[in-house]
Amino acid sequence: MPIDPLRLHLPPDLSPERIVPRPASTDGGGEFVLYWMQSTFRAHHNFALHHAVDVANALRVPVLVYHGLRHDYPWANDRLHTFILESVVDLAAAFAARGIQYTFWLDESDAPGATWPAEAERRPAAAPRPPSALQILADRAALVVTDFLPTFIHPRQLRGLRRKTKTPVVAVDSATVVPMRFHDKAHLSARGIRPVLMNALPRFLVAPEEPVLDVRRTIEVPFTPTVPTLETIPALVARCAIDHTVPPVEAIRGGTVAGQARLRDFLVTGLPRYAAERGDPNAPVTSRLSPYLHFGNVSPHEVLLAVRAADIPGDTGSSGENAEKFVDEALVWRELAHNFCFFDPRHRTPAAIPSWAQVELEKHREDPRPALYTDAQIEAADTGEPLWNAAQRQYLRDGFMHNYLRMLWGKAVLQWTTDAATALRILEHNNNKYSLDGRDASTYSGLHWIFGKFDRPFYRHPIYGTVRYMSLKTAKDKFDVAALLRR
Ligand SMILES: Cc1cc2nc3c(=O)[nH]c(=O)nc-3n(C[C@H](O)[C@H](O)[C@H](O)COP(=O)(O)OP(=O)(O)OC[C@H]3O[C@@H](n4cnc5c(N)ncnc54)[C@H](O)[C@@H]3O)c2cc1C
Repeated sequence: MPIDPLRLHLPPDLSPERIVPRPASTDGGGEFVLYWMQSTFRAHHNFALHHAVDVANALRVPVLVYHGLRHDYPWANDRLHTFILESVVDLAAAFAARGIQYTFWLDESDAPGATWPAEAERRPAAAPRPPSALQILADRAALVVTDFLPTFIHPRQLRGLRRKTKTPVVAVDSATVVPMRFHDKAHLSARGIRPVLMNALPRFLVAPEEPVLDVRRTIEVPFTPTVPTLETIPALVARCAIDHTVPPVEAIRGGTVAGQARLRDFLVTGLPRYAAERGDPNAPVTSRLSPYLHFGNVSPHEVLLAVRAADIPGDTGSSGENAEKFVDEALVWRELAHNFCFFDPRHRTPAAIPSWAQVELEKHREDPRPALYTDAQIEAADTGEPLWNAAQRQYLRDGFMHNYLRMLWGKAVLQWTTDAATALRILEHNNNKYSLDGRDASTYSGLHWIFGKFDRPFYRHPIYGTVRYMSLKTAKDKFDVAALLRR
């Protein structure tokens, strides 16, 4: 009998706005409900999993979680692969505890390494390939549920599977607190989206339910699953045809266990000083949760609920200045980024630069540059500006950069390149190749902020026109540059 999940009980935390497109119906045929895990690497607070379990329970079938890691995603390298494999270790344990079958496939094929973006995007359509494990599993399923993200490879992967299987495929938004589809338009500023988010918060900021799966039966999969352990990860990574020049970051371990530990630590050591010291790159007060939010190891719900519940000296709960400032970043700016990527498919390109800023940058295109550096010089942190080089070295070595430094870092590149398109391309490459939180909606809002997005015109400056200029030279008035350089 056809089952229409819209008519199933949809608890308030799994509102239809999370499901893209609207929840599909299924004829009920199929051995299981497949949850194709693409970007939400957690077994809790996961609305796609939630939906998969709800539908499976209605159909009286099990859920199979399929998680594949290919070698040819853009910028695939040891650092990103290691973080993901560390996440897999936690996922296997968490799903086992919930009695849900989780199966992981590591692509160890020895095809040529990733050359994204330039060459991969230009590559002619490949010869027909045999069906992938994902496609075989999708064909056997009653319904495929996957994660919804409006950026990076996710929209294309979703379209790809929909083309290949007759089974309905729905994508569910676990990336935001207020679902992307709740908004009816693209917001142009934090000021515009803030009241909308704050008004919607009582409805959406509740701890999500964790439904129990009724039918448990082991499904045979058409591949040999990989079961990594922390000890075997280096050898597994070494076997993959990926870029081996970007080493893992030992100080930032991937996975929910490490992400939740980071959150607990932040509540005690960072949050009480957050409002006063967030802008200081030398102060260890920001949460450094962005890699865990990016890979979905922790949920935005648990982060915001924990901050709300935190007992901050001097702050009165959610109305205190530290919590308020944090909510402004982790909810307002973060969800503005998702809103941007959701409504503007050009968000990876210069076409998404606001038109007033495009006009200004074009007017100043011929302005003399203080220096022109090659892509390689910039990537190697080999410019004439020690502060900029130190910032870039944070990406190269630490896989992370403080927000204020990212602003200075991004602004400077425009003056060393011929035009905004070149600067954007170089920034995207370095941000996404080295930063653990790269390839995210916040990546593209951050990069476009450099070129005027979400900002207003400022006083005129050569090269930048009225797009806000930030000087590396005057950074010493804002924070202790010498201390940063010593580090
Ligand atoms: C040029 C540039 C590039 C950026 N690239 C990325 C990126 O690739 N990935 C990324 O997650 N963020 C990016 N940002 C936004 C911001 O710098 C980082 O989110 C923040 O520095 C992460 O550190 P944290 O987790 O300690 O932040 P906290 O201050 O602890 O904030 C908590 C969370 O809120 C979110 N957040 C904070 N600031 C912003 C912001 N300005 N915009 C959107 N979300 C925000 C992040 O998810 C962050 O983890 C970029 C900003 C700029 C200017």
